[in-house]
Amino acid sequence: MVSRKKVAVIGGGVSGLAAAKTFDEKGHRVCGFERSHDFGGVWELSRSYPDVQTQSPKDLYCYTDHPMPEEYPEWPKGPQVHAYLHSYAEKNRLGRLYKLKTEVLSMDRRADGSAGWTLTLRSGANEWTEAFDFVAICTGQFSEKNILTHPGQDAFQEAGGTVLHSSDYTDPTRCEGKHVTVLGASKSGTDIAVNAARNGAKSVHLVYRENVWRVPYFVGGINFKKLLYMRAQEMQFNGWSRSPAARLMAAITKPLVWANFRGLETLLKLQLGLKKHNMVPDSPIEKEASCSLPIVTPGLFEELNTGRITPVIGSIVSYEPGKVKLTTGVTIPCDLSILAVGWKLGIPYLAQEYRDKLIEKDGQYRTYRLAVNPDLPDMGFVGFNSSFCTVLSAEMIANWLVRYMDGQLARQPSRAEMDANIDEMLNWRRKERPAAQVYGGLCSAPFHFRHFDELMQDMGAQTWKRSNPISETFAPPSAAAYGQFLATAPQYRAG
Ligand SMILES: Cc1cc2nc3c(=O)[nH]c(=O)nc-3n(C[C@H](O)[C@H](O)[C@H](O)COP(=O)(O)OP(=O)(O)OC[C@H]3O[C@@H](n4cnc5c(N)ncnc54)[C@H](O)[C@@H]3O)c2cc1C
Repeated sequence: MVSRKKVAVIGGGVSGLAAAKTFDEKGHRVCGFERSHDFGGVWELSRSYPDVQTQSPKDLYCYTDHPMPEEYPEWPKGPQVHAYLHSYAEKNRLGRLYKLKTEVLSMDRRADGSAGWTLTLRSGANEWTEAFDFVAICTGQFSEKNILTHPGQDAFQEAGGTVLHSSDYTDPTRCEGKHVTVLGASKSGTDIAVNAARNGAKSVHLVYRENVWRVPYFVGGINFKKLLYMRAQEMQFNGWSRSPAARLMAAITKPLVWANFRGLETLLKLQLGLKKHNMVPDSPIEKEASCSLPIVTPGLFEELNTGRITPVIGSIVSYEPGKVKLTTGVTIPCDLSILAVGWKLGIPYLAQEYRDKLIEKDGQYRTYRLAVNPDLPDMGFVGFNSSFCTVLSAEMIANWLVRYMDGQLARQPSRAEMDANIDEMLNWRRKERPAAQVYGGLCSAPFHFRHFDELMQDMGAQTWKRSNPISETFAPPSAAAYGQFLATAPQYRAG
């Protein structure tokens, strides 16, 4: 008999909602805490910049039992994703499990030495502590802004200039008649640059450190999910724990793999005009493919062609009133500086002594299956990893985590097995696939199928692949199919 536990779910975004539903369905007492006034996390409306839309196609950005509405476009806009998450919360009555506007300030082991954690919580003026048997951390990778300051910023602002983090760029009218500098050219940076150029900015400079490969929604006229999101592509990257036979096969097929990726690079260079804009990356695409590989913002290359966006490889050195000085030595007019420099990865409410067990000196996280750390019992992560299909990934990990907590995995790992696997994965990231070190090593792309295979087999699922080998090899992951696979894992209920 599995005992019923009191479980805290921290965060009410994509991952928190998946965790709350999954732990609730298994009969546990779920207490969800979300510091914002609303569900949605990064998709919550007051945090979204205008024109934000998914990078993932809609059928790869949904829960297994809740497809996005038919009328949604292939790449839904931010408010549509927000409404979709609300519909999921309503369908599963998740509101009853959550306290909104409630922030977790800290978490510590229970003072009486029993299993579980004590959370310190704050809602308005109330602060209290509450004990839990297990904590699911679902605060994602986008909760703490990365704030940069540069010399001269105060004088720049006193003279009327504005410096914003990308998540605070919610009003495009701020760009009208302004010289805009966007620092950082990941997806949010290019989204904002295009938005600014199309909303009356006098000039837009997109300043970034280095060229990276970018994938447009359509490659050579074909939806990229049909070309790139498949086992057949995934198998060409150097994954972890390759057997001698797999290494031999990789050596034999190396010329074909090489040709495949050179073909893709050539297509991207021609389609996007990368050479013309001096935007050809130095690294081969197969080495760089990871969660940091951005999708091309629609309109980016059109705006580069019109000259309304000027790309600059470099960074900001300092501000002067009405100007910004770049590492290229050039000083450009600037009224509005938007820092699209991302977020700080971490768990600020977890005391340093626990973080030291979780994070290696080089910033790499020690997690087993991207979900648990054997030195931090009675807690786990859902959606702490990035991926190209985060919603599905969060749901799969939530299903794995509840079974792990209840000792119900078919392959329940021992401490020694977890430590050995963590060390092997760290070694692989550091020595064989440096691109996998992005986001502290918490990235499952481009190895989604591999990651899901492991989770499904751990859970004891009877089926984890589509029966048709052709579609399994050459089609993107299907959320609905993963729902069916999950149903083949042993079921139970706590109580
Ligand atoms: C603009 C943008 C576009 C994206 N597009 C895609 C895409 O197309 N495909 C894809 O796979 N991924 C995409 N992502 C990645 C995205 O982060 C994930 O898809 C997903 O939304 C993450 O959900 P989450 O619940 O893990 O984290 P979040 O959405 O960040 O939610 C975490 C929640 O935790 C809450 N929280 C934080 N700290 C505390 C605390 N101490 N106490 C209480 N609550 C707290 C926050 O308020 C937040 O609501 C995108 C991200 C961004 C920013």
